[in-house]
Amino acid sequence: MGHGWEGAVLKLFRGRDFTFTVTGTEQVTQAFRRIHVTDGGLLAATGGAHPTMWVRLWFDRDGRPHQRGYTLVDPDPAAGTFSLEFALHDGTACDWARAAEPGDTIDATLQGTRFSLPEPRPARLFVIGDAASLPAVNSLLDALPDTPATIWCESAHATDEDLPFRLDPALHTLHTVPRRDEGAHLVSEVRTALPGLLGDDPSDAYVWIACDTATTRTLAAYARKELRLPKDRVHALGYWRA
Ligand SMILES: Cc1cc2nc3c(=O)[nH]c(=O)nc-3n(C[C@H](O)[C@H](O)[C@H](O)COP(=O)(O)OP(=O)(O)OC[C@H]3O[C@@H](n4cnc5c(N)ncnc54)[C@H](O)[C@@H]3O)c2cc1C
Repeated sequence: MGHGWEGAVLKLFRGRDFTFTVTGTEQVTQAFRRIHVTDGGLLAATGGAHPTMWVRLWFDRDGRPHQRGYTLVDPDPAAGTFSLEFALHDGTACDWARAAEPGDTIDATLQGTRFSLPEPRPARLFVIGDAASLPAVNSLLDALPDTPATIWCESAHATDEDLPFRLDPALHTLHTVPRRDEGAHLVSEVRTALPGLLGDDPSDAYVWIACDTATTRTLAAYARKELRLPKDRVHALGYWRA
């Protein structure tokens, strides 16, 4: 499959192309599916992975290329493997994941992923996400193993209680918030709790946000403008459009 004008633009921005091959699948919950792949040389080319690293996968929709971001899960540079985790809903990418079988291939372009752990390292982490950003959240928790974290996970399915969060009960608190009013309920829950948790001196905190685009924008503006967190202590990226 060619990648159309979007592929041409990514090439201009030095996007690098790879083909992943499915080696196995796991239905983690009714609405969350893990696909194991070989990386087509990606991890060797990049010299490893960074937390929250993602790729643009190319799906075919009615003969047209359809590009969507997905996060690398447990990258193993020595083996040249990682997994992809799909929060399942209606959609071309999800349809591909539902049907994926060993031997299937998927094209990917590496362009735009960038993230460095904040310096100085935060003493406290506040994370707001959902099933789509769970792989990135887990990679962040793995990268900051001794850091206490409060996590709000917006949930759209009863089975989200069983999502594979990597929590250390001594360090991490998870609040599962049902998705209501297009994200407004999550915003309200965070607005109620976050100021008290941040306290008078938020300078040692770091806030990481990845929900639907509109909710992410609202929460990022709240953290930066109303809570007055410095720009480099808030990371926000919309993961999907409602
Ligand atoms: C940097 C980055 C990393 C990402 N990593 C992951 C990842 O590891 N795992 C993952 O599952 N997703 C991840 N996403 C989100 C994923 O790219 C989007 O959810 C994407 O829109 C799914 O494509 P689709 O073709 O299945 O559905 P689309 O064609 O985009 O949308 C079809 C319908 O589903 C709705 N929809 C789209 N996404 C969601 C969602 N997450 N929840 C509920 N409804 C939705 C849309 O509003 C639309 O009505 C990431 C996004 C970014 C930007």
